[in-house]
Amino acid sequence: MTEFDLIARYFTRPVAPGGWVRTGVGDDCALLDIGATTIAITTDMLIEGRHFFPGTDAAAIGHKALAVNLSDLAAAGATPRCFFLALGMPRADEQWLAGFSAGLFALADRYDCVLAGGDTTRTPTLLESAPAIADTHQGAAGAAGPLTISITALGEVPRAQVRGRDGAHVGDDVWVSGSLGGAALALAVAQGEAALAAAELRACRERLDRPLPRIELGIALRGLATAAIDVSDGLLGDLGHVLSRSGVGAIVDWPAVPRSAALRAQAEDVQQRCALAGGDDYELLFTASTGSRDAVLAAAQAAGVEVSRIGRIDAATGLRVCDAAGRPIALPFAAYDHFAGGVR
Ligand code: ADP
Ligand code: MG
Repeated sequence: MTEFDLIARYFTRPVAPGGWVRTGVGDDCALLDIGATTIAITTDMLIEGRHFFPGTDAAAIGHKALAVNLSDLAAAGATPRCFFLALGMPRADEQWLAGFSAGLFALADRYDCVLAGGDTTRTPTLLESAPAIADTHQGAAGAAGPLTISITALGEVPRAQVRGRDGAHVGDDVWVSGSLGGAALALAVAQGEAALAAAELRACRERLDRPLPRIELGIALRGLATAAIDVSDGLLGDLGHVLSRSGVGAIVDWPAVPRSAALRAQAEDVQQRCALAGGDDYELLFTASTGSRDAVLAAAQAAGVEVSRIGRIDAATGLRVCDAAGRPIALPFAAYDHFAGGVR
């Protein structure tokens, strides 16, 4: 069972019209119509050892925990307003807390996003929660539960300009901001699967540790993007969500997929794996009508972000990635999934 099968089977229910929830489970943000205001709201959790390496700089963790949430607001075209922070920590380490909060607030202040509440708790050690296991495997001290950070962020979006993953039309262009694959390349280096010179590795690690949410672009694309999603799990999987929600297919032109110079220097299969299936880039992937090309480029320029046109929406369902000659490329991988191959 995949992460998305699991959500669909156990946590997706029809939403009756007339309440607050205009869009519920299945998009980057839930959209709530409250009076004349539409609120976009999203929750994302980061767990040590799963979403970041143990020992990662505390300020980077604070930045990233908020950035991944603001990235979902960017997909919805929302202006960030406030957020809530739930922390589960094995111990109260003041040096860590000072670094974490500094990284968190530096990003929050950039977008005038106010920390409005949260919850703080200590995660148990194995010795407390499962003494028998701790005794056998961890020795008398037990192992500390992982550091867990969950943030819920709220933003505002003009009701007439709301968008989600479901608005892509046949014939629309497919666009992506910035470049893809840098974060995945840093991960590949950390796992010994690729090598980079020190300066290039630093740039890729920056992509992995301090992703920049594309808030300005998300707002600039109001009324232009027909559908949008942020690339958190890899281009193929995330575009796949747009396609299935919109009931369409797409053709992606592999040579047009933007990659950093460091990634372009890697073998073709590494480039494809990182740029198409690698997560953690937090770029915006969006669709827009062909008539909006100039307006999209102007919006991106105003937002200070590059955008690339990487394909088009097609009536035939499914996703085809093509080479320079327009021939489909067979790819041996899919997007990152937390439960694929794990939970059955
Ligand atoms: P994102 O990557 O943008 O955070 P995902 O694609 O991971 O979003 O999640 C898909 C959708 O499933 C989102 O709308 C999310 O809010 C929803 N979702 C994920 N887990 C749960 C859950 N346990 N209960 C309800 N909704 C969930
Ligand atoms: Mg998202």
